[in-house]
Amino acid sequence: MNRSKWDQRFERADALIAAHPFAAEVLQFYKRMAMFQQTLYSHGEGACGNESGKGVSGLLEQDLNVHRLLPKFAEFLSSVEKCAPQLMAQSARDLNAQGTDRWQDLLISFWRTASDFQSSPGQPEVLLAWIFLQPQAEYLADHNGHIPGQEAMAVCPFCSRKPIVGVLRREGDGAKRSLICSMCATEWTYGRIICPACGEEAVEKLAIYTASQFDHVRVEACDTCRRYIKTVDLTKNGHAVPVVDELATMPLNLWAQQRGYVKLQANWLGI
Ligand SMILES: [Zn+2]
Ligand SMILES: [Zn+2]
Repeated sequence: MNRSKWDQRFERADALIAAHPFAAEVLQFYKRMAMFQQTLYSHGEGACGNESGKGVSGLLEQDLNVHRLLPKFAEFLSSVEKCAPQLMAQSARDLNAQGTDRWQDLLISFWRTASDFQSSPGQPEVLLAWIFLQPQAEYLADHNGHIPGQEAMAVCPFCSRKPIVGVLRREGDGAKRSLICSMCATEWTYGRIICPACGEEAVEKLAIYTASQFDHVRVEACDTCRRYIKTVDLTKNGHAVPVVDELATMPLNLWAQQRGYVKLQANWLGI
């Protein structure tokens, strides 16, 4: 099952590269990174010491098995140097030169304090730590996760990180919304008419914008807190893979930025 999850991401990236040449560079980068992530995921290497998979609380409070991850981080940085956008490639080169003590500090600090990442999502080295550690968290969530059925949570019920993208799935005659975690990829149900940033529920404060270019992706913006999230409507396009489609629809981010909205959670490019 997990193999097909990765295949779906790769295949979707290929399809979107063909459909939207303007996003090709971003998506090629995504695909290279996701392939690297798949190898990390399949080893489940740094996923916190409990190799039996039993008795783990699921939350990311345990220490990373960082010593097992450091050699992989070196490989990861070399790969980023070759395929990332310029700023991130430079950051990977700088980090590569700084050595393992610095890597260890960066990775442990990112794992323990997601708030750092959310307050400075645009820093390239923070983005690198995120991309590298994300499959560790996803592995933990997939193998140890017990997700409570709480619909009111605006952050991930597994690891408390913010959502990266929303999803609409068919339910009865309509659709229900869920959110996907930026860190562990857990998906949890969330109300359709409520801002995940501030809890606003007044319909007149919650704006939805779409563009004809991507009719299955919408910007859901809040005029109370000026935050927005993009939501991928699977009832309109069942082939979409939300995290990949989120990256491929960057013009919507720019559009929202120009209107003064701030993204709830930046993506891999810091946007
Ligand atoms: Zn999570
Ligand atoms: Zn809001």
